Amino acid sequence: MSEFFQIDTRLKVLAEKAETLCKEPFERAEEVRAYNEEKVLRAFLDNRVSEIHFNGSTGYGYGDLGRDVLDAVYAQVFGAEDALVRHNFVSGTHALSVALFGVLRTGDTMVSVTGKPYDTMEEVIGLRGEGNGSLRDFGVKYQEVELTAAGEIDFDAVPEAVRGAKVVYLQRSRGYSLRPSFSVDVIKRLVETVRQVNPAAVIMVDNCYGEFVEKLEPTQVGADLIIGSLIKNPGGGIAQTGGYIAGRKDLVEQCSYRLTCVGMGKEVGCTLNQSRSMYMGLFWAPGVVAGAVKTSVFATCLFELLGFSVYPRYNEPRTDIIAALRLGDAQKLVAFCQGIQSGSPVDAFVSPEPWDMPGYDSKVIMAAGAFTGGASIELSADAPLKEPYAVWLQGGLTYQTGKTGVLLAAQSMAEKGELSL
Ligand SMILES: *Cc1c(COP(=O)(O)O)cnc(C)c1O
Repeated sequence: MSEFFQIDTRLKVLAEKAETLCKEPFERAEEVRAYNEEKVLRAFLDNRVSEIHFNGSTGYGYGDLGRDVLDAVYAQVFGAEDALVRHNFVSGTHALSVALFGVLRTGDTMVSVTGKPYDTMEEVIGLRGEGNGSLRDFGVKYQEVELTAAGEIDFDAVPEAVRGAKVVYLQRSRGYSLRPSFSVDVIKRLVETVRQVNPAAVIMVDNCYGEFVEKLEPTQVGADLIIGSLIKNPGGGIAQTGGYIAGRKDLVEQCSYRLTCVGMGKEVGCTLNQSRSMYMGLFWAPGVVAGAVKTSVFATCLFELLGFSVYPRYNEPRTDIIAALRLGDAQKLVAFCQGIQSGSPVDAFVSPEPWDMPGYDSKVIMAAGAFTGGASIELSADAPLKEPYAVWLQGGLTYQTGKTGVLLAAQSMAEKGELSL
């Protein structure tokens, strides 16, 4: 390491050991990066991306070429028939909500085959709240197939559960749980299992944090729709906001009717000045994601060497950018997050404190010193101060700066007496 950061010598030795151990997973990440960079470049060339596509439109946005070509580029990259890529999606939850409301009708059933979905989806589905316009309010039924004790998809229970489903829903990333994330291979097996009993089911994948971590996306193994956020992987740290829905053309159209209105769909929606950063973000995304994967691999390796339980282990194959580190108590989580913040390019001088975040039943501490508000493709960490006392770490626009952030987190713990080296 350089002279710019004073890292404890014992930590530096461990970091070197970690990097040696990580050689193979790093090579895998670089191989995926190379493949996906060419995949994205090919789509830019084939769709004749040109400077005119960066000119934003205003008002209705009729005939906005930049918008339409970006949809086509995304569709090609994800092996999908069509895509809806818009800055109007305010978040990943919004894009997921549009997809669900776009496809489901009164009397239909949605079945989640990966257990409880991401927290923010609970109110969209109607698991919490009354009379607020949730799917349940509109008469959509919901069922869940619980994960097995080991956190895997219960393939024995899936066929019976999805028999009458209109939408089969799965979440690729562990999100903020300790269960494993589901690889594209596992998703392929799930698709085959569902198709055998219910060929017409719409298989929808919450793809948040998964894009470009593998060579294939779920749409390339038979999923009907994938959905994600542009302030995570596919925005490459450059898109300022937005989300995407990609997949079957008829379904993307239904979703576009929900995002704008029936009959207008994709034909409207001005891009303001967002197009250039959305193109550029996609172009950079495979490289940025590889940096985030390597940061995650390094963090899990270092913290395993420091004696903690980590999920996944450094040498396990990745399908998302998340690392969960079980630190054991509240003080350790606080010290860790304060260390991450101290290594962030923005707001490094502030010190995060635990707070009562709306919707959570315990205090939560978060570290985020990002160029884009809430962007978790940038180095960030979140930890609810309750069992299992784990911190979820993700992002890092480059490996080197991600690694430095992780080392500063460990050093912050040591300085506060929460870690003996
Ligand atoms: C981030 C994320 C979402 C959506 O969250 P937003 O904060 O609304 O963008 C949904 N599912 C998973 C697995 C996620 O990681």
